[in-house]
Amino acid sequence: MENFGYHTPASVADAAKILDAHEDAKLMAGGMTLLPTLKQRLAAPSDLIDLAGIAELKGISRVGDEIVIGAMTPHADVHESALVREAIPGLAALAGQIGDPAVRHRGTIGGSISNADPASDYPAGLVGHGATVVTNKRKIAADDFFTGLFDTALEPGEIVTTVRFPVPLWSTYQKLRHPASGYAVVGVLVAQTKDGVRVAVTGAGPSVFRIAAMETALSQSFSAKAIEGITIPADDMNNDMHASAAYRAHVVTVLAKRAVASR
Ligand SMILES: Cc1cc2nc3c(=O)[nH]c(=O)nc-3n(C[C@H](O)[C@H](O)[C@H](O)COP(=O)(O)OP(=O)(O)OC[C@H]3O[C@@H](n4cnc5c(N)ncnc54)[C@H](O)[C@@H]3O)c2cc1C
Repeated sequence: MENFGYHTPASVADAAKILDAHEDAKLMAGGMTLLPTLKQRLAAPSDLIDLAGIAELKGISRVGDEIVIGAMTPHADVHESALVREAIPGLAALAGQIGDPAVRHRGTIGGSISNADPASDYPAGLVGHGATVVTNKRKIAADDFFTGLFDTALEPGEIVTTVRFPVPLWSTYQKLRHPASGYAVVGVLVAQTKDGVRVAVTGAGPSVFRIAAMETALSQSFSAKAIEGITIPADDMNNDMHASAAYRAHVVTVLAKRAVASR
């Protein structure tokens, strides 16, 4: 690990000022991904801006028809939150399936989505529920936030502050876990919302994606039978030591049907 400056701002405004003042600075949430990256010398930021002391980035509230989750809220808090369990039980269940207890108590929703690991669970949670990512500069629809492999719409100097989830009529998350890390080999979120059905897939491709054909079929008839003939091409699926592209494509339909059948 190289030397770096270490900052502990107490507000988002202060964090943003420090970020703007240091070209090679990095924000740190729980450090679950960032610290191993530094230890392996895959990154060498000039400064670390630790967000842990910023109270306004923590916590969960209900505002009208939305659940609002602060960027520094760890996965365990989302899983255990009575508010989330009551309004969006599918999201509470998703958070409870991330990694292991240590990961869930240290990893945060803001760090997870900013990192945009293709095998992470929250991208399906955000896109599946039609969530909105709020930063210190603007609001970004989840559909526009995840732009590729480890890539997001975040601009330099932008800090995720909250994620806003509209309360769905119903949703659930089905996941094929990697047996060692817990990451999603494939994860499928199905939600019934007042604007129709949403089907979002993580783990299978380089970035989260929706399946329009399933959404249309399920909006007409919400049954596993309605989507059993809908397959997705393996061409764009991830192909690695954990699972082949063809297997991942197959599992997407299996998990989507399982999700719908659990209604
Ligand atoms: C062993 C292990 C198993 C895991 N299993 C799973 C799993 O099953 N499913 C899953 O989804 N995830 C899994 N994870 C990932 C984990 O859940 C964390 O969410 C992820 O590592 C990010 O950690 P963090 O929140 O501490 O962010 P950090 O590591 O501190 O930061 C990650 C990145 O996000 C940036 N960042 C952090 N906060 C912000 C912010 N507010 N605004 C803008 N940028 C920001 C940082 O600069 C950095 O680039 C696993 C991780 C480990 C180590």
